[in-house]
Formats: sequence, structure tokens, C-alpha cells
Amino acid sequence: MKVDIQHLKKIVGPENASDDVAELYIYGSDASVHQAMPDAVVRPGKTEEVQEVMRYANKNKIPVIARGSGSGMSGHAVPIDGGIVMDMKRMNKILDIRIEDVLCVVQPGVIDDDLNRVLRPKGVFYPPTPASSRVATIGGEIANNASGLRSVKYGATRDSVLGMKVVLANGDLVTLGSNTRVEASGYQLARLMVGSEGTLGIIVEATLRLTPVPKFKAMAMAKFNKLEDAGKTITAVMTSGITPSVLELMDNVAIKAVNTALNMGLPDVEAIIMFEADGRIKAAVEADMNDIEEICEANGAFGIEMSDDPKEMTRIFSGRKKLFAALSRYQKGLSCTSLADDMAVPNSKMAATVQEIVDVGKRNNVVMTAYGHCGSGVVHTKILMDTTKPGQWDNARKAVSEVYDFVRKVGGTTSGEHGIALSKAPSWKKEKKDSLEMMRAIKKALDPNNILNPHKMMDAPDDWVKATDLRYTTKVQ
Ligand SMILES: Cc1cc2nc3c(=O)[nH]c(=O)nc-3n(C[C@H](O)[C@H](O)[C@H](O)COP(=O)(O)OP(=O)(O)OC[C@H]3O[C@@H](n4cnc5c(N)ncnc54)[C@H](O)[C@@H]3O)c2cc1C
Repeated sequence: MKVDIQHLKKIVGPENASDDVAELYIYGSDASVHQAMPDAVVRPGKTEEVQEVMRYANKNKIPVIARGSGSGMSGHAVPIDGGIVMDMKRMNKILDIRIEDVLCVVQPGVIDDDLNRVLRPKGVFYPPTPASSRVATIGGEIANNASGLRSVKYGATRDSVLGMKVVLANGDLVTLGSNTRVEASGYQLARLMVGSEGTLGIIVEATLRLTPVPKFKAMAMAKFNKLEDAGKTITAVMTSGITPSVLELMDNVAIKAVNTALNMGLPDVEAIIMFEADGRIKAAVEADMNDIEEICEANGAFGIEMSDDPKEMTRIFSGRKKLFAALSRYQKGLSCTSLADDMAVPNSKMAATVQEIVDVGKRNNVVMTAYGHCGSGVVHTKILMDTTKPGQWDNARKAVSEVYDFVRKVGGTTSGEHGIALSKAPSWKKEKKDSLEMMRAIKKALDPNNILNPHKMMDAPDDWVKATDLRYTTKVQ
């Protein structure tokens, strides 16, 4: 069915609907390796417009793919079957901040950092904060169940979402969850939407739980000559009874990339761990920092540097936040691809996992890096390769499958925070094999015409290389 662009223009206004090829091209990719062209893009400004577009799409069985900023790393917002990309960024109002109820109500297109810039002077913040918080929208974060640097202490998105308003596939508007910190009434439908990757409904409003800004913070960096020792340290800290507010690991490839791209001056060692403690009482923060330092030293760390200077802390963390982009500068001719990129493993398996990632890269003749919010169990990897050579994609395909075989063997999960979409579906389908039919039944009940972000997650193709065109100038069989 051809999309009636004139009809869409009537719903959202002529300047907010387009089938111009240049615009469609931009909306055909995200931060993943995938690319596929939509037939039209709409930018609704209010809930009623979202409902109207959904009624039209449902009647005509046209796919609709909600899109925030397109920073998803696995092809989440890539329109694999064409259709309408619904850009939510015009719906970007902070509707209410209720300090006495410790919550706020926002539209889905609000950018994470923009929200926190408004909240922090009021003494509260919204904690999930992925490294992409400068661009990621609250809607995209909810749909992906994003987490970040401070999730080790403050939880993932699911822990901060109280309720939401959602437009269903048929255009109906429903209110899910509540305004209270706890709710025990029936199916947890707001939670079901968290991590649903735009396949069950369009989030048009969210009620978010806020957290008081801690008064004191300190951070430190510990150096290691062995990557495995850094992994063991993560395990030891997380079983010590201390809950750091940040516990990040970076291997040598990640360190070199950040130094080359951003001139960060990080120590050129095999691995570093960055940790932060925060709280209301300075002495308690200092005690936690000292205890973590002792654990690091007992596991082979040296040259630990502490800081409570906000400028220095921001500088170091900004290097970590820009790591994804920096990795493409690691070595001339190698591009950073986001493939097996955010698995989570049990705390006790951290050392073995980070070492395995590096070894898998060597075995398959691609460069692989291990870093991430390891305190939460999340290990990021990226594959750095010459994307113009089809053989490198074959190597990457093998490396991805070996990494995931390992992750499943140690009882881990395919995605800790970025979600599944296309690239991670093959492993995830193996991991969730006995609950896929349950998920398909839920999808069918809410979206019988399969128009909401179709062919993602449980219905994605089994080979991610062939799922869509690749966003690179190469042809792979
Ligand atoms: C440099 C970089 C660093 C990153 N770091 C992190 C990190 O630390 N932690 C982390 O978790 N992720 C990280 N990511 C991944 C990504 O930024 C997050 O998953 C983010 O939440 C995506 O937000 P977005 O607005 O870009 O969503 P998009 O990519 O546009 O969309 C993501 C998914 O959400 C759906 N969606 C969007 N809006 C709505 C809506 N209103 N209703 C229903 N569905 C919707 C889309 O259909 C899609 O399936 C990073 C990405 C990059 C590029």
C-alpha cells in the first residue's frame, strides 16, 4: 500500500510530513550497521496527531516506526519493511515537575540531558543517563530500557518509570502504571512497555520517578597491567557490601582510542577502572572510596588517583561518554561497528568475559574492545574492522556468534541495555527460545496487523548481515 503523503500532511501539517528522498535517507539509519528506506516521515506535535496517524496506518496496514534521536545501536528505528517513521522529537515538553511527589511528567521527545539540566537546580535528577544522554530521548530510553554510568547504584530506566500514556496500534490512548512509588494492581503494563522497542505502542507521555542529588561525590582511577585483574576487581567490589555510584572498566584499545581522538591523557596500561562514590555525608563517601581503593590494590591495581574536583571528574567521564565515536579513530582504516555490543554477565564471570572478548577478536582477525558499566554486569564490545572488505564482515559474524555462545554459556544475557532489534536478534532468540511464543502472542493481541516496528526482536531475520542493507560501501553474501 502506497503511503498517502497528502493525508499525512493534513494530520500533522505540511511541514511535518515528507516523502522527500533526502529526508527519507536520513531516517533510514541509526547508530547501528543497518539501513533501509521508509516511505514517509511524520513529526507529530501532539497526542491526537499520533492517534490519527495510527488509525490511518492500521486501516491500511502500513508499518509505523517510532523514532527518538536514532541513537539505537542495533537497528531499532530502521524501517526494515518501509512504512512511516514517526519522529517524536517535536513532542518535547516537560509537562510537570512535582518535587513533593518526587516525580515529573514529560513528553517522549525530551532529551535526557535537557531534563536533568532543569531538574538538578531543584535538587533532584533522573538517573538512567546513558552515555548518549546528550541526544537520547526519554521515549527512546524507555523503549530500550536504557541504563548508564550510574545504573550500578540507581538502576535502569525500568526502575525510574512509574507510568505512561501510550497510543496503541489502532489509535486508542491508554494510561498505564500510576503516580505512586509502588503499585500492585494487576499486570504491570507500564513495565511491559519498557524495553518493547516500539513494537507494542507509541509512548506519548511518561511519569518518571526522581532521585535526590547526592551532596558529595568523589572519583578515582585505578590502573592494571592485566585486563583479567581489572575484571576480578569489579567482582570483588560488587561483593564487598559497598555500592559505588560508578564502576566502569576500559581496556587498552578503549584507552588508546580516547587518547588518540580526544587527547585525554589516560594512562597507557592494559586496563583502567573508574569508580565513584556519592552520598549525603562526606565521611561516608570517603570511607567507601578508601575501601574500594583497598580492594583494587589487593587485586593488582597501582597508581590510584582520587579526585573530588568536579571539573576533573567531568573531564574524565566525558572521555568515557565519547568513547563510541572515538573508537573509529583507534587505527586508520578501521571503523567501529556496533554488533555484539552490550551483553550482561553474572558478577562472578566478569574477568573471564572481558578476557574472552579480546581473545575472540584475535582468533577472528578483527580488533575487539571490552569496556562498560561493568559494576552493573554490562560489558560493551565493539568490532573495529575494515568495513570495505567483505571478508571482515564474515570474520565479524563469526566473532559475534562466538562471543554470544560464551555469554549464554556463563549464564549471561544478550543485551544488558541497548536492546535487541536486528543485530542481536539471532543470539537473543536462542537465549529466549521458550518464551518467544509468549512474546509473539502479546504482540499479536496488541498489534494484530503487525504494523508497529515489525520484524524486530522475536520476528527479526536470523542473519543480521542479511537483515537489511548495511550502512557501508560493501556487498556481503
Ligand atoms: C555514543 C552512544 C552511546 C550510547 N550509550 C548508551 C548507554 O550508555 N546506555 C544505553 O542504554 N544506551 C546507550 N546507547 C544506545 C541509545 O542511545 C539508547 O538506547 C537510547 O535510549 C536511544 O534513544 P533514542 O532517542 O535515540 O531512540 P531511537 O534510537 O530513536 O529509538 C530506539 C527505540 O525506541 C523506540 N521509540 C523511540 N521513541 C519511542 C516512543 N515515543 N514510543 C515508543 N517507542 C519509541 C524506537 O522505535 C526504537 O525501537 C548509546 C548510543 C550511542 C550512539
